[in-house]
Amino acid sequence: MLGPVILAASRSDRMRRLISAAPVTKQVVDRFIPGEAVADIVPIVEEMTAKGLELTMDVVGEDITTPEQATAARDAYLELIGRLKGLELGEKVEMSVKLSMFGQALEGGHELALANVRPVVEAAAAIGTTVTLDAEDHTTLDSMFAIHEELRKDFPQTGCVIQAYLFRTEADARRLAAAGSRVRLVKGAYKEPAEVAYQQKHEIDKAYVRILRILMEGEGYPMIGSHDPRLIAIAQELAHQAGRKLDEYEFQMLYGIRGDEHLRLAAEGHRMRVYTAYGTDWYGYFMRRLAEKPANLRFFLRSMISK
Ligand code: FAD
Repeated sequence: MLGPVILAASRSDRMRRLISAAPVTKQVVDRFIPGEAVADIVPIVEEMTAKGLELTMDVVGEDITTPEQATAARDAYLELIGRLKGLELGEKVEMSVKLSMFGQALEGGHELALANVRPVVEAAAAIGTTVTLDAEDHTTLDSMFAIHEELRKDFPQTGCVIQAYLFRTEADARRLAAAGSRVRLVKGAYKEPAEVAYQQKHEIDKAYVRILRILMEGEGYPMIGSHDPRLIAIAQELAHQAGRKLDEYEFQMLYGIRGDEHLRLAAEGHRMRVYTAYGTDWYGYFMRRLAEKPANLRFFLRSMISK
């Protein structure tokens, strides 16, 4: 019940100011966003890769309002990639980007986002790794898929995300399940209207399985973005049925959620990539994590009251 309310708040400037300034918030935020600067995050990357985990890095930020902020977002990723270069981890550490942070919603935003994201994709390729385009709300997706297609002309390994809760996604999955394409399937984290998206958990889960089957039976590289134990077991079964080897798909989970499961899957020989967000503009990312699990909200509110 609370999820939609929190998701609505995730887009409110007033709530952003209130929550970002709350004295205890940072301590709670750290569970999901383990650093604010590149210098904080590099040791975490080293520690996690040493444990056999792979990472996808998200410099938090979205819904920017000026072209300068979009350029700053590009530069933040370039700084990160510059720091990763010396670690020589190749595709063990890839980037996840939100095109809204690269200017997609501004005037001329489609071209602006493409122009800002391209150097990031180039820099990632130069250190032997890739970029995945996150999926945001449904109004942004045609532009995201068009940018994805454009980038893939020069960088075919560029990935994208599809969301099981959207009615359109089965068709998108069929189009994307082609040789060389990298596709992350998630349930979907935004507040979407009933005209475009399933609203009930069981409907979303059933759609997830249908779409996963399309990806597994296709020729691309499926990336299973979920913490749901049932879906993870089903993914293993579908991969087996499709004759995929362990390195022909991967699991992905968020930093701070089911950490034991990250290590268990990696120890079983699976590719396990942890989506690791860092930076100062954490509000939108943090609120979506609260919306996904009521217990997170209770923990957050308790920490504010006990202060
Ligand atoms: P759920 O049914 O929500 O959760 C299953 C179990 O996982 C829960 O019972 C709980 O034990 C645990 N869990 C799940 N979420 C939390 C949480 N926040 N805190 C604590 N425990 C939790 N969404 C997008 O719309 N676009 C994206 O680009 C995108 N990228 C993602 C990348 C990755 C790697 C992952 C894992 C998720 C991404 N998401 C994205 C979020 C996704 O859409 C879901 O909102 C989120 O993963 C929760 O769904 P679930 O599949 O884990 O299943």
